[in-house]
Amino acid sequence: IQHSPTSGEAVVSQSESQLQKRLQKVLKEQQASSLYLCAPLIRGRKGHHEPLANWARNHDYTMLRIDGQLTELSKFKKLDRYKEHDIDLIVSELSTSHSQLSTSQSLKEALRLGKGSAFLLSSEGELLSRLSTKRTDLATGEAFPELDPKHFSWNSPRGWCPTCRGYGQLFEWMSQEEESSVDHLDDFDDGETCPDCQGARLNELSRAVRLPLNERRTSNIE
Ligand SMILES: [Zn+2]
Repeated sequence: IQHSPTSGEAVVSQSESQLQKRLQKVLKEQQASSLYLCAPLIRGRKGHHEPLANWARNHDYTMLRIDGQLTELSKFKKLDRYKEHDIDLIVSELSTSHSQLSTSQSLKEALRLGKGSAFLLSSEGELLSRLSTKRTDLATGEAFPELDPKHFSWNSPRGWCPTCRGYGQLFEWMSQEEESSVDHLDDFDDGETCPDCQGARLNELSRAVRLPLNERRTSNIE
């Protein structure tokens, strides 16, 4: 069962009307600026994905988010077909000036395209909130991405702890890499256990999944 790494609460489903309320709340909080409402379309799939870009263009969408980068559809070029890509559709740009009706229609559309999941980005492309009819932490209202087997592998960027990248230990060469993942640590000894995952090698999202079977077994021993 998936648990929230923030609150430790079990992740449960939310209805569409609850999500509508949450969307209105985030919009109010962001008053001045506009937001992007996005639907996740592709997760970790290889291909150049041009047919998807064509489909989006033909349906009058103007922007995609490709591997985390906002990209105008008019500037789309075939992606590296041998690499895995994540692609999201920018369903609409929202602001408080939109009517509640058009906002709620946009969310409906995003949830339909994202198969129950949508999320909000700031105009700078920063993730503000996930909206999902599945997998939501009721304590914080935060929704989580659907987990696949790669989330449980420390050999995959989806599953590994971002600090030690799945090694479980820290080595000096890590701080010398171009995109160093250990920048936020002041000092560490070569071979030291990773302080962020305590050597578990997985990231916090994957570590927060608990199997009911294991919990029962532990309580039997106690
Ligand atoms: Zn780690």
